[in-house]
Amino acid sequence: MTENTARSMTDEELHELAGKQVALGEIRGAPAADPVNIPMIRHWLTAMGDENPRYLEQGLAPPAMAQVWTMPGLRRGPRERSPVDDMMAALDGSGYTGVVATNCEQTYHRYVRVGELLTPATRFSGLVGPKRTALGVGYFATWNITWYTEDDEPVADMMFRVLKFRPPAKKEATEPYPLQPAVNQDTAFFWEGVDKGELRVQSCADCGELRHPPGPLCPRCRSTERAYRLAAGTGTLFSYVVHHYPPVPGREAPFVVGVVELPEGVRIVGNVVDCPVEEVRIGMPLRVTYRRMDDRLVLPMWAPA
Ligand code: ZN
Repeated sequence: MTENTARSMTDEELHELAGKQVALGEIRGAPAADPVNIPMIRHWLTAMGDENPRYLEQGLAPPAMAQVWTMPGLRRGPRERSPVDDMMAALDGSGYTGVVATNCEQTYHRYVRVGELLTPATRFSGLVGPKRTALGVGYFATWNITWYTEDDEPVADMMFRVLKFRPPAKKEATEPYPLQPAVNQDTAFFWEGVDKGELRVQSCADCGELRHPPGPLCPRCRSTERAYRLAAGTGTLFSYVVHHYPPVPGREAPFVVGVVELPEGVRIVGNVVDCPVEEVRIGMPLRVTYRRMDDRLVLPMWAPA
């Protein structure tokens, strides 16, 4: 988001900068590249699966699109800096390079109509920290964006909070892997299988339907009676992303997160390993492999077959 050129600051200096950024108040950004328009609304509705005909018929933007209109895009040109940018750069420069969004609250004042041109205004609202979190020591930074029409009418507000954290140094093999799966009565059978080198797929004990991820109810017959079947451990890569950034504790980027289609008919998410990232291809045949992450956890992953 910002260039990592700032020098390292002490906690006191970070709070001092935060105070200055808060004092700047609301700073207007660049107006949207395009006025509110039907093609973008249509794409949004399709992507969201929203079939409400009212938006297109009446030329109204879905309120949750507020942020969409003024997104700078990947190739953003020079623009006014928001009071958030300097704070983020300072946190990066001080080693808090990890980032996760923790809160987002939007408030809509009215529908925005086709043809209206929105301009965002950002104010930095506060910095809290340093705090010890599961991801590492970090700061919570909060800012607010208000979108205005050309008549200076505010139409939507957003509060956004991120945790900027210092990624822990590479874990020793003896340290627990920080991202442990949530094991509960619906998923325990799966992890018990993984520990034995079995890939278990939940099935309905009444109608036999397979489902993954595991859940309490059969999507076909609504039965709560559960069983499982052993999968062959083969599959093909249905889709994937290459994770480069932000840093993930306990992992070394880049790594591949894939959706693997099993011949049994369900899809499962897992890392694709033992294959250079640039050689990963949709449709490639894969075979499950089990990786020990720490004393407790084994993860199923996928390697070229
Ligand atoms: Zn069933």
